[in-house]
Amino acid sequence: MFASVYDDVLRRNPGETEFHQAAREVLETIGPVLAKHPEYVENKIIERVFEPERQIIFRVPWEDDRGEVHINRGFRVEFNSVLGPYKGGLRFHPSVYLGIVKFLGFEQIFKNGLTGLPIGGGKGGSDFDPKGRSDREVMRFCQSFMTELYRHLGEYTDVPAGDIGVGQREIGYLFGQYKRITNRYESGVITGKGLSYGGAQVRTEATGYGCAFFVEEMLKARGSSFDGRRVVVSGSGNVAIYAIAKVRELGGVVVACSDSSGYVVDEKGIDLDLLKQIKEVERRRLSAYAERRGTDVATYVPGGNVWEVPCEVALPSATQNEITGRDAEALVRGGCIAVGEGANMPTMPEGVRVFREAGVAFGPGKAVNAGGVATSALEMQQNASRDSWTFEFSERRLQEIMSDIHARCLETADEYGMPGDYVAGANIGGFKRVADAMMALGLI
Ligand code: GLU
Repeated sequence: MFASVYDDVLRRNPGETEFHQAAREVLETIGPVLAKHPEYVENKIIERVFEPERQIIFRVPWEDDRGEVHINRGFRVEFNSVLGPYKGGLRFHPSVYLGIVKFLGFEQIFKNGLTGLPIGGGKGGSDFDPKGRSDREVMRFCQSFMTELYRHLGEYTDVPAGDIGVGQREIGYLFGQYKRITNRYESGVITGKGLSYGGAQVRTEATGYGCAFFVEEMLKARGSSFDGRRVVVSGSGNVAIYAIAKVRELGGVVVACSDSSGYVVDEKGIDLDLLKQIKEVERRRLSAYAERRGTDVATYVPGGNVWEVPCEVALPSATQNEITGRDAEALVRGGCIAVGEGANMPTMPEGVRVFREAGVAFGPGKAVNAGGVATSALEMQQNASRDSWTFEFSERRLQEIMSDIHARCLETADEYGMPGDYVAGANIGGFKRVADAMMALGLI
């Protein structure tokens, strides 16, 4: 590893542990590419890539339904725009601070590079907690957030989208306020929009579908498939729901999913319509799923750890650092043969090590969950040409993109002497595309 570069990252970004973790993981795998390309080292490509081009932190004041005033903090880290406008979601969650936004923005650079599409890397969000807030409160918050952020955005500058806590409702309010302030119908300034005002088919489903497509490719590469396999998906948000949907279409049986309060096991396979009703319409806890499904079919385990449920394929799709080394050991013991990260950095470094040593096919988030942002780029493409594609065509494009990313990861891992290593393949593949463009554009 490049100890002095890593020491610099630690020194310049004190306390930002998630960013340190993401930086370390990349540094540990890009050695071979730097050995082959001394010009990257001479031109300090790594040092430059670790330093965001711009970081914006702002105050977000808003009033709740009772008239009480709240102050939140807003962030946008514009990390790297060498491949295109900054692109990446907004996360609204109480855990959000600069370290989280930076780790996500950093990952996004390579993820977006890996898609082969013209998008740079950025991320933003706020420590605002939408849980339990009324629609009006969420709207007022989004309007206040955009009243500051709008000046930094633009279809050629910076294009946000959703992430945890930011779905179509929030994107609508954010876009509405941007449109009002700027007096421009600039559709391509934000993605994940509703279909009635410039959104793209399959964007809602894209991250989850893409995750299932990628894992299907991983299984295929081992002469296998989802067919009849027992699958556990963590989370029950946008990524998890559509991963469950596609896994089921591909023949797998998803027996468990989770939320921050616990997990539910349903040996007959998670009932997707019921899950969507509880989570997307009623915005309730998973306990309500078990109650409605019938406790003879589904068991809700309050406070439980979903990785205790044995499975052959695990799709961590909740949040960062949700699989510890111990969880990984439990998964391996339970017969897990493949892991696909639907979330960003859900597996802790010890967990990755356990999977690697056990020979589990391990697909990192940068590759596995890239379908979301890739479909965002397709949304930008449709907005730019004032076109809208069919669901079937868009899904086919997504499937092709995921299969290309899978192939690129494997080819790159082979080329650099680490056959079958998706982590190295994704990191090197993404890094190389960014580094070559940085070399071409000079010292900026
Ligand atoms: N938040 C998503 C991600 O982690 C999507 C970002 C986007 O569509 O811009 O990649």
